[in-house]
Amino acid sequence: MIQQNRLVQEFISLVKVDSETRFEQDICVVLKEKFSSLGLHVMEDDSMAKSGHGSGNLICTLEATDSNSAIPTIFFTSHMDTVAPGKGIKPQIGDDGFIRSDGTTILGSDDKAGIAAMIEGIQVLKEQNIPHGRIQFVITAGEESGLKGARAMDRSVMEAEFGFALDSNGSIGDIATAAPGRAEIEIIFHGKSAHAGVNPEDGISAIQVASKAVARMSLGRIDSETTANIGSFSGVGPLNVVCDKVMLEAEARSIVQHKLEAQIAAMKEACESAAADAGTTCEFNSNIVYASYMHDDSAPIVQLTARALTTLGLKARTFHSGGGSDANIFNGMGIPTVNLAVGYHEIHTTKEHIAISDLVKTAELLVALVKETAKV
Ligand SMILES: [Zn+2]
Repeated sequence: MIQQNRLVQEFISLVKVDSETRFEQDICVVLKEKFSSLGLHVMEDDSMAKSGHGSGNLICTLEATDSNSAIPTIFFTSHMDTVAPGKGIKPQIGDDGFIRSDGTTILGSDDKAGIAAMIEGIQVLKEQNIPHGRIQFVITAGEESGLKGARAMDRSVMEAEFGFALDSNGSIGDIATAAPGRAEIEIIFHGKSAHAGVNPEDGISAIQVASKAVARMSLGRIDSETTANIGSFSGVGPLNVVCDKVMLEAEARSIVQHKLEAQIAAMKEACESAAADAGTTCEFNSNIVYASYMHDDSAPIVQLTARALTTLGLKARTFHSGGGSDANIFNGMGIPTVNLAVGYHEIHTTKEHIAISDLVKTAELLVALVKETAKV
C-alpha cells in the first residue's frame, strides 16, 4: 500500500526546498503545485498580510468519494515552515534507516514528515479506491514563529468537524491530547533617575524594584500543568545614574485556563506590590496568545485515533504536551484536534533525524484514520 521509495523521495524533495519561518514563499509554490496535481482544490488564505510571513496558509481539499456520503469532513494539518538553520538542507539516508541532514542544518522533518505523509496518503487513498469523506489538508505558515499563520487564519475556511495535527514528538502512536495555553507578558518598571553618588536618595532604582518583583514570583515549574519564565530583564544605563527604567519579558503556560490566569494575576501582583512599596509604578501587559486544550481519553477523537492505531498493530499512548502547536489554534476554533507523533527526533537542532519506518507508519496512520472515520 504505502510506497516507501516514493514517500522517501517526496520527503527528500520537500526538505530540499528552503522554508525558514517567514520565508515560506518557495515551499508554498511547490506545495500548491503538488496538491493541485493530485487533484485537490488548493486555496491560499489571506493570512499573509496579517502574519507578515512569506505565504498564507494552504487549505487543500480532497472531495468525498461519494458526494452524498454522510462521512464527516476531517482535516489533517502540518506546517510548511522550519526553524533556522534551514537553508540548503542536504538530506542523507543512512545505512541504519534514518534520514539526517549533513550536520550543518536542521533536517526539516519538523514538519515535512507530516506533509510527505499527506502526499503519500492521498495517493494511496486514490490508488486503492478507499471511500472517504471530504478531507482538508491544512498546511500552515509561521508555526515556528509562534503559530502566527494559524492564528491569522479565518475560522470560516475550516469545514472539518475534527482533525489531526501531524506535528508531535514521540513514537508513532503517541497522541498529545492536551497542550498548554500561553501568555506573553511585558512589564515596564518606572524608577526615577538621580546621580548615583551625589543624591541617590532622590532616585528610585527600577532595577531594584524589578528585582524585588521577580523575587516575589513563583517561576519555573509551578505545578504539573503550569510553568512560568522570565525570558529577559533589561535595564541599561551609566554606572553613575540610578536606573529609571527596566523592561521584563516573560511567559506563562498552563494546560488549565484558570491556572494560567491565576499565574498571570500572581505575577502582576508581585510587580505592582514591589512598585508600590518603592513609591513607583509599573505597566503590566499580558496577552494570551493561544488557549490550552485538553481531551479526555474517552473523547471520540481520541477513541477514533486509538482504533485506527489498533488496525496497524500499534498502541495508542496519550500524553500532555508541554508546548503549543497549531492544534491549540484549531481546538480554540472549536474543532477537536489531537496532535500525533510523527517520529522525528532532536528537532530544532542540526542532529534532527527521522526513521524511514516512521515516515511509512505516519502515512499508514493517516490512511487508517481516514478509513476509521468512514466507519463512524
Ligand atoms: Zn513542528
